[in-house]
Amino acid sequence: MSLRLFDTAARSLVDFEPLVPGHVGLYTCGPTVYNRVHIGNLRTFVWEDVMCRVFRSLGLSVTQVMNLTDIDDKTIRGAVAEGLPLREFTDRHIATFFEDLKTLNVVPAAVYPRATDHVPEMVEIVKKLTERGHTYESDGTIWFRIASFPSYGKLSRVDLSSMKRGARVADDEYEKEDVRDFAVWKGAKEGEPDSALWETDLGKGRPGWHLECSAMSMKYLGETLDIHTGAVDNIFPHHENEIAQSEGATGKPFVRTWLHAEHLIVDGEKMAKSKGNFFTLPDVLARGYSPRAIRYLLLSVPYRQKLNFTFDALHGAASAVERLESLDARLGERAGAAGARASESFAARLAEARAAVKAGWEDDLNSAAALGALFGFVKEANTSLEAGQLAPEDAAAARAFLREADGVLGVLPEGADASLEAEVEAKIAARQDARKRRDFAASDAIRDELASRGILLEDTPQGVRWRRKG
Ligand SMILES: [Zn+2]
Repeated sequence: MSLRLFDTAARSLVDFEPLVPGHVGLYTCGPTVYNRVHIGNLRTFVWEDVMCRVFRSLGLSVTQVMNLTDIDDKTIRGAVAEGLPLREFTDRHIATFFEDLKTLNVVPAAVYPRATDHVPEMVEIVKKLTERGHTYESDGTIWFRIASFPSYGKLSRVDLSSMKRGARVADDEYEKEDVRDFAVWKGAKEGEPDSALWETDLGKGRPGWHLECSAMSMKYLGETLDIHTGAVDNIFPHHENEIAQSEGATGKPFVRTWLHAEHLIVDGEKMAKSKGNFFTLPDVLARGYSPRAIRYLLLSVPYRQKLNFTFDALHGAASAVERLESLDARLGERAGAAGARASESFAARLAEARAAVKAGWEDDLNSAAALGALFGFVKEANTSLEAGQLAPEDAAAARAFLREADGVLGVLPEGADASLEAEVEAKIAARQDARKRRDFAASDAIRDELASRGILLEDTPQGVRWRRKG
């Protein structure tokens, strides 16, 4: 395999080799479920979906874990404002989040752990950190002492020189100027609802946001992950703090490769509600664009570049999808016709296009290169069809290639069924993985989740089979 990825920590391209040959463990920071996600968030989630599909197309199996941050400053604020128990408040936003992913044909992750279901695991990490001298308590809150972790800052390369020893920051989110000790466990404060507090060995309180991801990633993927992703604004403080907590607790390297997606901007400007350029998926759909065109636009720009979202660009994305769809239909017609035998030169050209698309993805998931190669082929295939020069067998082979390429893109209408299959296979792989680790709670959770959707697993001597509930 010659897959290269840009590792944020190394600031360079690295040859990617998973820890366990043939299998990728991937942790993708999920949404904070206090509002509807915007198209900038969705850019990251679609990119992560494309990444998983690329890995699978290269013959790797993938366990993707995406957390749901259902307890932090924002969710508590939202629940209090609406007078709802925390879980009831976050349930609603989780439902719309899954709706958006489904609309955009995102293959679901193997597991979507909720932070509030993993408080005991978080408490365990705090205890380990305390044993190893990384924490101190003050005002009922437990803080991570940055000075106790010499490599703090290695991911974000923040300037530590301005750091004041012992200065603290309580907020879940803060700026680079605030390199300070941060809260891993927040003691209960006046006015906080009971639905957002846990009675634990650490006292009554709640976890810090960063701790949640350390706990959930290591629970489902082990202490060292192949890949951890997020948007660029997660690099500091979120991911920097995750490293300090995880490595501080285990003494092992936490993540082998860090990948971060750039922001989406609208008409060249940062998206903001005050500017009227803030869009959710339903906002864009309401203007008459298809989910497949939106997906195409979101994945078409390589992830390390800012994506400039404009309605012109969306229009262009819609016609690109249309070209793929109409070629697919015409190849289908041609494939069923009688005619000349397959041509060797066409087969060679097809192999070349296939290799070029693959090379594009392998080059740090370069979607522009992969799409460029694909559309070069689309143009030639259209020309041959129009000239009546394409043999039926060649048309069938070209169509198979188009659909194979769409296994990653997910923009052709038939994509949906293939996605369900890929999703179930991915979950089965994740469950087998959990069983190998003897983590039966995790493996049962996956089986139950599938069962709740009417998909039953059967363990047979030939392996795991699945079927729909009759
Ligand atoms: Zn996270």
